[in-house]
Amino acid sequence: MVSSERKKDANQAADEKSGNETSGQKTAVIELPAALSVRELSETLKVSPVDIIKRLIRAGIMANINQVIDFKTAAVIAADLGFEARLKRRAAAGKTDRLSEAGKQSAQKADQTTGLLPRPPVVTIMGHVDHGKTKLLDAIRKSNVVDSEAGGITQHIGAYQVDFNGQKITFLDTPGHEAFTAMRARGAQVTDITVLVVAADDGVMPQTLEAIDHARAAGVPIVVAINKIDKPGANPDRVKQQLAEVGLVVEDWGGDTVSVPVSAKEKKGISELLENLMVVAELEDLKADPNKPAEGTVIEAEMDRTRGALFTVLVSSGTLKVGDTIVVGQDWGRVKAMFNDTGKRVKKATPSTPVEVLGLSNVPQVGDVMQVVDDEKAATAIIEKRRQEISKEAEIARTVSLSNVFDQISKGKVKELGIILKTDVQGSIEPIKTSLEKLSSDEIKVRVVHSSTGNVNESDIMLAIASKLVIIGFNTGAEPGAKATAEREGVSLRFYNIIYNMVDDVAKALKGMLTPTFVEVIDGHGEVRAVFTAGKTEKVAGSYITEGKVTRNSSVRVMRGKLKVFQGTISSLRRFKDDVREVTTGFECGIGVDGFNEFQVGDILEFFRNEKSG
Ligand code: GDP
Repeated sequence: MVSSERKKDANQAADEKSGNETSGQKTAVIELPAALSVRELSETLKVSPVDIIKRLIRAGIMANINQVIDFKTAAVIAADLGFEARLKRRAAAGKTDRLSEAGKQSAQKADQTTGLLPRPPVVTIMGHVDHGKTKLLDAIRKSNVVDSEAGGITQHIGAYQVDFNGQKITFLDTPGHEAFTAMRARGAQVTDITVLVVAADDGVMPQTLEAIDHARAAGVPIVVAINKIDKPGANPDRVKQQLAEVGLVVEDWGGDTVSVPVSAKEKKGISELLENLMVVAELEDLKADPNKPAEGTVIEAEMDRTRGALFTVLVSSGTLKVGDTIVVGQDWGRVKAMFNDTGKRVKKATPSTPVEVLGLSNVPQVGDVMQVVDDEKAATAIIEKRRQEISKEAEIARTVSLSNVFDQISKGKVKELGIILKTDVQGSIEPIKTSLEKLSSDEIKVRVVHSSTGNVNESDIMLAIASKLVIIGFNTGAEPGAKATAEREGVSLRFYNIIYNMVDDVAKALKGMLTPTFVEVIDGHGEVRAVFTAGKTEKVAGSYITEGKVTRNSSVRVMRGKLKVFQGTISSLRRFKDDVREVTTGFECGIGVDGFNEFQVGDILEFFRNEKSG
């Protein structure tokens, strides 16, 4: 209902806007200054800046929201929208005029001093499986190939660029939010805009929602491509309604999300999609300085049998040139050769350009940062600095957990507790979400960033790392791989089956009153090979450590076959009469256990400790 009302409102607004023309009334007259920014024009005309930028692009003018345009241009756009523009007389020129002039000057100055120039947007395609991500990437790539090349072009690297009206757009060729968030989890965000592909015959599906949450968590704007409009069952309006229900309201429904109907199969709507991507890019005001040593991010890497280590880097700023000395991750080398997305040798790569680079001896990792430096000395200094940073990072908690969130709030490090909520059934999501978000206070906001049904999976863990979130499951568990990754990366996972307990725990965590939960960590195993007497009655197990280690602080379980005969703490740990703190695999030692004297040869000792978790 909400959405159809919204739609009605939007239609009414549109009618009112265009009413002047359709009802034959006079065109609205509007006064505009000699120069004004796109934003000011949009505010004066009460038309969305997106709409204005689109019309400017069609008129061959690339302008972002802050860009200043002259009266003549503004008048053409205004006329296009049904307004008659008149020049505001100088004497009457008000604040806006002066402001925009001042704005113009300062904007120009800023750009001159920083050397920043517009750069192409980097786009990732996301959406539900089978909705046409790959096909769309293909259609976009082919849309750009000049006829003589058609068929002859094979893409060589994991990203490509297309030309749109003389402007470039870069597409990453690994579609899906999983790859996108995995990059972010490694600390690299290369995407500027997300294209959300939704099949018009299938509508919004679980992975569509996941993709929306992942893009939102990253703060990346979304352009919706409603695909498969060629299919008989296509229903773009239903898609728009479903999107509105999750707060993604498209423009023609009065919202500000750009949506474009396309058919990847029939290559329809592709240039409209590209045009809209340019519009959003203009709004984002993407800039980089091409006149400095390059920086970039590794987006793929491999060992080529004939050529050696190869990696594809997406240049984020500066210009990368053949011969440059580069540091990548913790390795350095010199750019021997570079190849563009069609496999052609190139000598340089400017911001937002993907290139394949030959010049390292080892294969770097995806997500590694590449940096151009002066020489070998500078390279080794940077590598040393990076090593130190990595070890420092390991000391600082990289993740937020329910047990450390209070600490982090107190230190002013955290202002929001972001949660991934997984439940068994859809119906539980809203009530739990509401109860959790109600716990927000002035000091800290509680926000459910992503929610869905099912077990906690790898992509949830990646999102938790990338955006520092905690994961809470209600009546669910974790997939085995996901659990292992969570443990390795220190991501906080908690599971409940009573809502009250969950909300109570989060409330306590926010106040620093949550008692931590403990998980058992097995340190190692030993085998009793002899039993000695020490003192009057005390027995010591002459043991051999078969695996892991035993420490003086370990707890121990004495196992006889499958039977646990005792569990307690270690009272003494000795090697050749000396008290020791730890004994590792392959060594013998004497172990005394508090309150237990009935060791038998062949008993297995399991050493463990309880650790705070989540
Ligand atoms: P992905 O899993 O999102 O990458 O989806 P694919 O690109 O592999 O497409 C899934 C299926 O939908 C394939 O069989 C495509 O041929 C088909 N498909 C993709 N786009 C369109 C379209 O615009 N129209 C029609 N009719 N089929 C499409």
